[in-house]
Amino acid sequence: MSVFANLIDGEWVTADSVLININPSDTNDIIGEFAVASPAQVQQAAAAARAAFPAWSRTTAQQRGDILTKAADELLARSAELGRTLSREEGKTLPEGIGEVVRASQVMRFAAGEALRLKGEILPAVRPGVELEVSREPLGIIGVITPWNFPIAIATWKIAYALAFGNCVLFKPAELTPASAWELVDVLMRAGVPKGVVNLVMGHGAEIGPAIIDTVDAISFTGSVNTGRSIAVQAINGMKRIQLEMGGKNPLIVLDDAEFDVAVDAAINGSFFQTGQRCTASSRLIVTEGIHDRFVAAMKEKMEGLVIDHALKEGTQIGPVVDQKQMDRNFKYIEIGADEGATKFGGAPLKRETPGFYMAPVLFTETSNDMRINREEIFGPVASVIRAKNYDEALEIANDTEFGLSSGICTTSLKYARDFQRNSQSGLTMVNLATAGLDYHVPFGGRKGSSYGPREQGSYAAEFYTIVKTSYVSI
Ligand code: ADP
Repeated sequence: MSVFANLIDGEWVTADSVLININPSDTNDIIGEFAVASPAQVQQAAAAARAAFPAWSRTTAQQRGDILTKAADELLARSAELGRTLSREEGKTLPEGIGEVVRASQVMRFAAGEALRLKGEILPAVRPGVELEVSREPLGIIGVITPWNFPIAIATWKIAYALAFGNCVLFKPAELTPASAWELVDVLMRAGVPKGVVNLVMGHGAEIGPAIIDTVDAISFTGSVNTGRSIAVQAINGMKRIQLEMGGKNPLIVLDDAEFDVAVDAAINGSFFQTGQRCTASSRLIVTEGIHDRFVAAMKEKMEGLVIDHALKEGTQIGPVVDQKQMDRNFKYIEIGADEGATKFGGAPLKRETPGFYMAPVLFTETSNDMRINREEIFGPVASVIRAKNYDEALEIANDTEFGLSSGICTTSLKYARDFQRNSQSGLTMVNLATAGLDYHVPFGGRKGSSYGPREQGSYAAEFYTIVKTSYVSI
């Protein structure tokens, strides 16, 4: 089996050890072996990026935009093939995998345009004869550290903006999904990214993470809360800029006046699609008393009809859990929920034709917001129902969390919808929609423990990927 290499200074470089990439739908299916970068290779990659930065940062916005547009074209043209690879290594269904590659292409194309849309300001000066200008410049070398759950989309929405604004990149993808990352970097190189501008260092976060943080100017990270915190501490010590996207414990409120089918569909989609492995997944379903029992009954009925199977099989609605470790975590929380007195529905391990990490989604009912299952992010197909007396109590419960990424409400009342939109303490708010499912040209990010630093995507991405210069000129 050939080894997929790291990219350092424009060269594909192998390593002493490899990561074996296993298909979670069929653990007999090996996607490939991927070179594990060492801390010394990270240093080489960082040096290459430093050497490439002066020339790259002085290219025109048109040149950078053209390269990104070419990469976007290739991603779109190959979305069926790359989407299959993505689904094979991550376990999301084939339509979800292809959809993610199409999304990555859209993000890339939009970021290409942002290169030319970068704005500055001209203001009157205090002193006579002086001209004043505020402009944005590239920051330098960006460390991009990504998770496994959106292996091509998240990497793209960091790398594309970093490049659009003239930065160089050190990219470390998640251990479980290096194939999508490798393909993305390969596409970028073919599109004309000069050597040293993008470097790929695959491997273990704990081993090469510190070297990455040490050598870059800024880190954009998406992953777990604990890793985010440890990256933050190290980065702040080195005075590096950080952008962290971490967990969620996203509430979806369902009021008595909700359009019933809309609410049930939003809850099923938000809680269980993509195996619940989305930071925007709905994990707390806060339901008012008048609709509670009917809602729970409809949820259970729908859950029983969900098709859970091999990600590449036609008709599969929910693929496997990503790996054994995440499977163990899900079952640990199922036990915790039962110990805390919640009533469990679903959650059986499932056998399919191929050996994989299959489980039925879980709905906990009769839960309270102080239970661990309602406070800690599980990251699996597990949701809880919390009963609320009325809208005010539902809002209070929704905001009573350490997190604040996404939130939603299902209601036909304009009054409650608008009130929730204003008072929900989250970065993203949905009305009559699932808490997951986002556009790519608007800011993404959360509040409280969910996010730290400037927002990602759209025109807001420039906040992180550029640095402001104030120029005073007297001629
Ligand atoms: P998960 O538990 O979902 O895998 P992590 O936060 O551990 O989430 O992983 C997200 C990304 O962070 C991965 O690319 C992982 O390799 C990386 N990572 C893990 N530990 C560290 C660390 N100490 N420093 C830098 N990156 C890390």
